[in-house]
Amino acid sequence: VEQKPQVTAVMDTQCPFCSVQCKMRVEEERSAAGRFSYKVTAIPNAASEGRLCVKGMNAHQHTLHRERLVHPLIRREGKLVQATWEEALDLVSSRFQALQAEHGTDSVALYGGGSLTNETSYLLGKFARVGLRTRYIDYNGRFCMSAAASAGSKTFGIDRGLTNQLKEIERSECLILAGTNIAECQPTLMPYFTKAKENGATLIVIDPRMTGTAELADIHLQVKPGMDAALVNGMLKVIFDEGLIDRGFIRSRTKGFAELEQHVRALNLADIAESTGVPEALIRLAALAFGEAKTGMVFTARGVEQHADGHLAVRNFLNMVLATGKIGREGCGYGAVTGQANGQGGREHGQKADQLPGYRLIENEHDRAYVASVWGIRPEELPGKGVSAYEMMEMVHREEIKALLVMGSNPIVSNPNATLVEEGLTKLDFTVVADMFLSETALLADVVLPISAYLENTGTMTNLEGRVLLREAGRSAPGEARHDWQVLCELASRLGRGDYFAFENSEQIFNELRLASKGGLADYYGITYDRLRKEEGIYWPCPSLDHPGTKRLFEKSFAHEDGLAAFQTVTSDSPAEKADHEYPLLMTNGRQLSHYLTGVQTHRSPTLEARNVENHLEIHPHTARKYRIEDFSLVAVQSKRGVVILRCKVTDSIREDTVFIPMHWGGVQNVNRATSPQLDPFCKMPDFKTSAVSIRPYSEY
Ligand code: SF4
Repeated sequence: VEQKPQVTAVMDTQCPFCSVQCKMRVEEERSAAGRFSYKVTAIPNAASEGRLCVKGMNAHQHTLHRERLVHPLIRREGKLVQATWEEALDLVSSRFQALQAEHGTDSVALYGGGSLTNETSYLLGKFARVGLRTRYIDYNGRFCMSAAASAGSKTFGIDRGLTNQLKEIERSECLILAGTNIAECQPTLMPYFTKAKENGATLIVIDPRMTGTAELADIHLQVKPGMDAALVNGMLKVIFDEGLIDRGFIRSRTKGFAELEQHVRALNLADIAESTGVPEALIRLAALAFGEAKTGMVFTARGVEQHADGHLAVRNFLNMVLATGKIGREGCGYGAVTGQANGQGGREHGQKADQLPGYRLIENEHDRAYVASVWGIRPEELPGKGVSAYEMMEMVHREEIKALLVMGSNPIVSNPNATLVEEGLTKLDFTVVADMFLSETALLADVVLPISAYLENTGTMTNLEGRVLLREAGRSAPGEARHDWQVLCELASRLGRGDYFAFENSEQIFNELRLASKGGLADYYGITYDRLRKEEGIYWPCPSLDHPGTKRLFEKSFAHEDGLAAFQTVTSDSPAEKADHEYPLLMTNGRQLSHYLTGVQTHRSPTLEARNVENHLEIHPHTARKYRIEDFSLVAVQSKRGVVILRCKVTDSIREDTVFIPMHWGGVQNVNRATSPQLDPFCKMPDFKTSAVSIRPYSEY
């Protein structure tokens, strides 16, 4: 008689591959022959309403991969070899201490990630300032959310991904998706938009490519890369000229309108059409659709934000939201569509160079004093403000930083100007990487520390709505892998700072985080593990245990001291790097459905990898003909910074003056070998999305 497989584990968890944080159940079964198989089903009633995309369905595969790191590794005679935790942690602490004694505490830097739990993000910030006493900490979320975060902070006084709930999308009459391809990046959000369309909404997509998302649009504005701010000025001009502004809202809830109005009214729509590449009639159509709608929401993502003027471009979208009074009521609002799994929570608790937990500012005396009191140190012991992620890489390259601890990130692949970044990392005196796999960055490390995966580590994640969700471990980590927060506590102990890191589980860390965020903008004080187990996630701010959480922001006032939202006049009207004779095309980049970030995890999921085994370049047929490029041939894409070699796909879904490369590969296929490191002065976001390049057949390279 054939024996039925036995269910050996049932894990209720959340997908680790984007900011929606879809809930799911992973069931592990063992056959009579001892083989394991896995069944994945969506759990309804979460942010994704019971949907999962192909990434979520296969997110367990990498956690089972044979390349999982199960022992610490130490470089000996040029090779990474197995070591004990004692050896590895002793080496890390002694080298950090020696380098700090010789070069000062700021000679050691930390580099975190936007996929870490809130608890680890918080602890990493504390470890930098209290454990190592260095000012240098930043994280890869700098490349994800910083432009939207700074724009939200300046306009509204607070930065939360969505100002309202996802389910309000269905009740909105007009929706703008700018620089976001949710059909590939957050697929389970698509039904919100299709439902809105069924309800009669107009969908406007702004993107240089005809993406899966753009195919759903009623109006597609195929803008030139880097021209979003100018395009919005055109839409604002139509809205102002047609009298579609909400004077009452502007008068009672905002400031700075007169200057914006004066600037925009003087603009010429034909000039804007010319510079943005979007026909005047289409700009007008989109502006009328948004201006005339009674309700509307605007979403931006990296296509708008990853520019040297990303902050201002987002602010101009917010100008449009405010001018038409579309915020703080049902079906109205703004959303930054976060890419990383914890892009929202990862930036709230002190991983950023300039921030302390709860969005407190490291340069604000009151904020420093409060957080120091929670941490049990004197305010003057807290280091000052550090620098942004790419600036840190430049300091590494200049040998001003001597040692680096990287946790849950792969900076060699994810930074712009990747060749310089890789060169810099080889100059470091000492590099430590905590990861699940030997990523491109880990391969250069002196010590590699194996850490647990999402199925193995309990912690909270904050999704793109600002909804805090508890993700509980379903099984133990393989081999000797440890939780990232445990590694930080162990290291702190060896550095003589163990008293400040006496945590036995993630809930204890969360409880300290709650206290540290209390009274801050991102106030988590009222959120507890107990509540999260009972409730369907809780939206911050949630200042007390009996507070229900804040589902919709700005109903009565904004978060600035005077309660008003701030308009910003935006004059920016050209990309920082322009095409020229030598580099005649604009290169932009983005995601693909089956991969996540630099692909460290998804390249190790056989099902996901099989969908996209190599990188590619998208190019318009006319452009391909001009440069003698054949479909599927190998091409060399060259910028001032470096060259990318990859196969090309000829498609008329992209503008003739633009080429597109996905961002999930390292080595010669890494798009970031060519991307521009020019930084936005407001938020230090690099200009990933507009790099001037030339292209030729690989045979001529
Ligand atoms: Fe949901 Fe995003 Fe995971 Fe897809 S990748 S299942 S949309 S969380």
